[in-house]
Amino acid sequence: CGIVGYAGPNETIEALLNGLRRLEYRGYDSAGVAVIDDTGGISVRKKSGKLVNLEDLLEASPLQAAGTGIGHTRWATHGGPTDVNAHPHLGDDGRLALIHNGIVENFAELRDEVVSRGAELASETDTEVVAALLGLETGSGKDLETAFRDVVQRLHGTFTLLAMHQSEPGKIVAARHHSPLVVGLGDGENFLGSDVAAFVSSTRRAVVVEEDNIAVITPESVRITDFAGAEVEFEEYEVEWDA
Ligand code: GLU
Repeated sequence: CGIVGYAGPNETIEALLNGLRRLEYRGYDSAGVAVIDDTGGISVRKKSGKLVNLEDLLEASPLQAAGTGIGHTRWATHGGPTDVNAHPHLGDDGRLALIHNGIVENFAELRDEVVSRGAELASETDTEVVAALLGLETGSGKDLETAFRDVVQRLHGTFTLLAMHQSEPGKIVAARHHSPLVVGLGDGENFLGSDVAAFVSSTRRAVVVEEDNIAVITPESVRITDFAGAEVEFEEYEVEWDA
């Protein structure tokens, strides 16, 4: 329902929680974050209910992160609003994390495929099937961008998707299909959001990612391609916001 991504050197958890707070107006039933932690692995905290539940969990069980992270507020469509069904979901034996807005209509068919290829699913969501499929692709030796391009082309339905992998710790890949995605341009840091509310407290410079495009961000770079990998030109604009 609400999506935020952060790549930069600052307080990752604060950047993600700030974004999620500003996206609360959309309504949601669960919230979660994933970061590259201080050991270089992926760590997740997620919780059903209001954002304060996630904040309490982060206080009881803090994350050490100053780098890449993604955050999500969920509005359940496939599987009830439980802790396990909350996003982010993991793939590639916990080496990648993924969040999703929307519905994957062909998830049952993809679920059968990933299970037969050896993936183990923990949740009832359509989203985890995408994380598992992406994980099978990166696990078979593809880099994150190649694997992500191959996977998004196989999905039917609606999606904004963000994913990161611990083998490429400074990078977030994102795609959209009938669901919105914007990039926020910072100074030595960059953002992704389901809308500009996700990053407007940090930067007013934004780029709209167009339908069926993929954005790849690092702290220093933003690149946009179509699903086939061809480079797409983009223009930034100044967000107007009274807050
Ligand atoms: N279909 C996904 C789920 O049920 C994503 C829902 C959303 O857009 O928040 O987990």
